[in-house]
Amino acid sequence: MNLILFGAPGAGKGTYASRLSGLFGIVSIATGDMFREEIKKGTSLGRKVAEYVRCGKLVPDDIVIDILAERLKAREAEKGFILDGFPRTVEQAEALGRIVKIDAIVQIVVPEWIIVERLSNRRICSKCGTIYNLRYLKPKKEGICDKCGGKLYQREDDKPGVVKERLEVYEKQTQPLIEYYRQKTPIIKIENNKIDTPPEAIIDKIVEKLKKASILKV
Ligand code: AMP
Repeated sequence: MNLILFGAPGAGKGTYASRLSGLFGIVSIATGDMFREEIKKGTSLGRKVAEYVRCGKLVPDDIVIDILAERLKAREAEKGFILDGFPRTVEQAEALGRIVKIDAIVQIVVPEWIIVERLSNRRICSKCGTIYNLRYLKPKKEGICDKCGGKLYQREDDKPGVVKERLEVYEKQTQPLIEYYRQKTPIIKIENNKIDTPPEAIIDKIVEKLKKASILKV
């Protein structure tokens, strides 16, 4: 099964992608994570994309498409995948369509106040990438990952000025993608109007809707 998780920054894509990946036994591929990793390692790709990521602008399409295409060729993607943060432009969606068939788009819709609240309180494990929220999904011990004991950090681009830019970029460049897919690919829409909805409840809804649409065969 090949899925795209679609939604604004802070909609919960990363959390749901990692849970769905475990549940379905397929890989989750997050272009943002790939870039952060390259930046951390100081590779030439990392140096090329660092400034875009730091200020919340989109990395140019040709760069993103190249690394995504490489990743999809890897054996681990053969059984299926969940894309988190890709595509973000119509050009990326067109390029993706030339490489693979997408079975469904899972669109997560949340109100803007939740996004702002989520992003400003989001903390991430520096070792295993687990996502926490200082108010709604707290680690047991402050600053430490429950799962692996790694240190939690705040993403540079989760700070207020950059969040605003990322939301604008989403509205202008990424949101129109839903129209692009409307006639081509089934869209499973999940609305979440509460900030404290447990991730499991959203996962249950996604699974139920995927089954109902016969995308997930049981
Ligand atoms: P994310 O972790 O998905 O919020 O992505 C963090 C940052 O990485 C974005 O603000 C962009 O600078 C860059 N990025 C990630 N995915 C893409 C993409 N598909 N196209 C362009 N830039 C991207």
